[in-house]
Parts: sequence; structure tokens; C-alpha cells
Amino acid sequence: MSVNTSSVSLGGKMDKIVSLAKRRGFVFPSSEIYGGLASCWDYGPLGVLLKNNVKRAWWIDNVQTKMNMCGLDAAILMHPQVWEASGHVNCFQDPMVDCKSCKKRFRADELNTSVCPECGGELTEARQFNLMFKTFMGPLEDASAIVYMRPETAQGIFVNFKNAANSTRKKLPFGIAQIGKSFRNEITPGKFTFRTREFEQMEIEFFCRPDESDKWFDYWVNERYNWYIEHGVKPENLRLREHDKSELAHYAKACKDVEYNFPWGWSELEGIASRGDYDLKCHQSSSGENLTYFDEERNEHFLPFVIEPSAGADRAALAFLTDAYDEEEVPNDKGKPDVRTVLRFSADIAPIKAAVLPLSKKQELISVSEKLFADISRICPCEYDERGSIGKRYRRQDEIGTLYCVTVDFETLNDSQVTVRYRDSMKQDRISISELTNWLKDKIF
Ligand code: ATP
Repeated sequence: MSVNTSSVSLGGKMDKIVSLAKRRGFVFPSSEIYGGLASCWDYGPLGVLLKNNVKRAWWIDNVQTKMNMCGLDAAILMHPQVWEASGHVNCFQDPMVDCKSCKKRFRADELNTSVCPECGGELTEARQFNLMFKTFMGPLEDASAIVYMRPETAQGIFVNFKNAANSTRKKLPFGIAQIGKSFRNEITPGKFTFRTREFEQMEIEFFCRPDESDKWFDYWVNERYNWYIEHGVKPENLRLREHDKSELAHYAKACKDVEYNFPWGWSELEGIASRGDYDLKCHQSSSGENLTYFDEERNEHFLPFVIEPSAGADRAALAFLTDAYDEEEVPNDKGKPDVRTVLRFSADIAPIKAAVLPLSKKQELISVSEKLFADISRICPCEYDERGSIGKRYRRQDEIGTLYCVTVDFETLNDSQVTVRYRDSMKQDRISISELTNWLKDKIF
């Protein structure tokens, strides 16, 4: 059993982010008390809020607010024929080589040496390794009981194309979106949560008339690129990369990746592919079901063409976390220069929106603070912290990206106002308690 590789250094900034993620409860190594499990990670108390915010933002922008979109949540286990029809049983594989000395495994297509990059040993011939996890359905463990853990959510959408179209009465062009877990037995996982064997995808299959597919491809490339920027990623850290002909699958018309400039280099966050009618055609021929669409306006039956924006929730969350990470020099409590670590998340991605901090542990202040926490936590995730100096408490909140710190002090008892401190500018304002929740709603939503 291979253990977690969390000790592998990814270099300066990334090491700091991995360490902050563990210390503050964003991401923990899976099964850590048993030494961890390679490439598996658990999202902690803050991580679950962060990833949920990423998924919620994606769903609101791509499904809820688009008239021509609908959602789906298909089962992870699907009929094995799905994966034969889609080509995954025969073609979803990477070339693998083993080192004859240290026994480590590598993806042959990622190596730029002919010997082992770890120990210089001799490598075996490359052989194809299928990335799908297999398991058995029911009590018999024989070939007839084999099912696969889905390696992508897309096929759950294709096989439900007719169901979704009929039940929603949607007309072309329209899309079906899904968020869910996928599993790939990656030969070389790594780089923290960037490449794991269990991960979450956020996928869209957008069905359109064949002669309109170029237009919709451009539309989705634009939408998806801008989505990361709208939610806080700095434009200089994001780029589009067009696949050249040699990278395209034989049926694909075009593909562009949205890439983020991680500390280790530009890497894929999402791929947007123009897939023609390949997927529906494969399922139609394998299942025998007629999957054509009847276009009333044109009075013709045809298989729609598909544009597929396929993103990873874990990679998006990691990009938002990396992009938000900042260190700046500011004076500490005693006026000495100090480094402040701050996660500059956008308002919708920040896991915690506000923190209530009573200036002292005197009961009068605690009572007001507890009541404030009760009111604020009804509208957004809020923390309550009464321990340590106020300066240290501010820093703790900065480090997790909390947007507003609400301090209750002795003046509050006289004027019913609190001090609100802004994360980015560290500016402070007095705001009346009776207006506070509406003020926060305005700022956050
Ligand atoms: P890569 O080339 O990085 O392996 P891919 O091109 O195989 O990715 P797709 O099959 O296009 O990836 O999957 C769509 C998205 O799903 C990717 O852009 C990525 O965000 C996410 N994804 C794919 N594989 C993984 C993985 N092993 N771990 C985390 N996210 C993944």
C-alpha cells in the first residue's frame, strides 16, 4: 500500500500553501493516523466550505441562471456496456514503464529520459495501463459482476440525454450539467490535490445543431475562461491553450484548455471540447436506442453535436486557494514590521465571511457577541473567537480569508455599534448592530 506523498516538496509558495491548508483545516492527508494513502486527501472544516462555494458558484452561473441548462446527478456505478461504448474499456489508458532497480512506476509519455528519473536504473518496455478502477457488483466476484467506478461524469449525461430532453421539454440548443466524483487509477498522481485518484468533476454537455457548433464552442470557451476571473483568479495567472491537431481525438473538432499558472507551471484546470456527435452515436449504436432529436423548425431528425466544458472542482479550489495566497509586510501590535499572511478570496469563494470577536471576556461583551454570532451565522458562515490578543485574532482570520472581523468592545454597550475591520485594507468602520446583518448581506451577496 503506497502512503501519502504530502512530504514531497513542491517549492516555496506551494509548500507554504500545503502547510497552511493542513494547519488551518482546509486539506488533510487521507487516513493520516495510518500513514496516509497515496494521492488521497480529505477536505477539512474550511476546505469543505471552500469546495462547496466553488461548486455552488459553478452551479449558479452555469445551470441556475441559464434558461437553456438543466442539472443531473447520475449514479457513479453504471452499466459496464457504457464504458465499452464510450471507448474507455479499450482506450482509456496511459503507457506505463517500471524501473527495474527501484521499482517505481512512471508514465512513459511524461518522461524525457530513457532511464529512471529517480535512480538512473533501466526501464521496462512501455505497456498500456487502463485507468479505470474495477469492482464487483453483488456477491459473486467473477467477470460477469465487473463494474467500473466512473472515470468521468460525462457518460452519465450522454445516457440520460433522452430522459432529460423529454422530461424538461427543452429544445436545442440546451445543456445538461453535473457535479460528481470520478475515479482514475492515475500512474503518477501528485502535486497536492491537483492530480488525485478520486476527484470531483463539474461537467457540461451542451447539445446543439451541427452547423452551430463552432459558435457554441466559442461561447463556452469565453464563458468558462471568464468564470475563473469573475470569481477572483488574476487574469495574468490564467490562459487558454488550444490543442494542436496531434492532441485531438480523431472525432474532435477542436479543444481548448483553461490553464492556471501554478507555482510549478501552467497546468490544466478545464478542457472545452467540440466533440461532434461522437458520444451519442456510440451510445445509439451500442444500446440500440434511437437518440436522435427531432427539430420541429427544420423538420428533420439528427444527432445533436456536443460542446463539452469539463472542469475539476478540486483543481478549481486549488487554483482559487493558490491565487488568494498573499504575504505583506505590516506593523504588528508593537509597531514592529511583521509579515501578514492573507487569503484574498472573493466574497463568494471565501469559506468564512465574518468573525465575531469580543474585546474582553467580560460577560456583558460575551452576551452581545453570542447574540451577534447567532444572527450572522443564520445568513453566512461565521466564526466566534474570544481567545488571545485582538491583533493575533485578526491575523488568524486573515490567514483563512475571513472578509470581515466584527469586534465588540466596551463602547458597544453604550452606542450599540461594533467595529468592522476589512480583511484587505485593514480599515475599520463603526456600524450599528441593528444594521449589521443587512450591511453584511449587501457586501457578500
Ligand atoms: P490531465 O491531462 O491533467 O490528466 P485530462 O485532460 O485527462 O487531465 P479530462 O479528462 O479532460 O482531464 O477531465 C476534465 C477535468 O477533470 C480536468 O481538466 C481536471 O480539472 C479534472 N481532472 C481530471 N483528472 C483529474 C485528476 N486525476 N485529479 C484531479 N482532477 C482531475
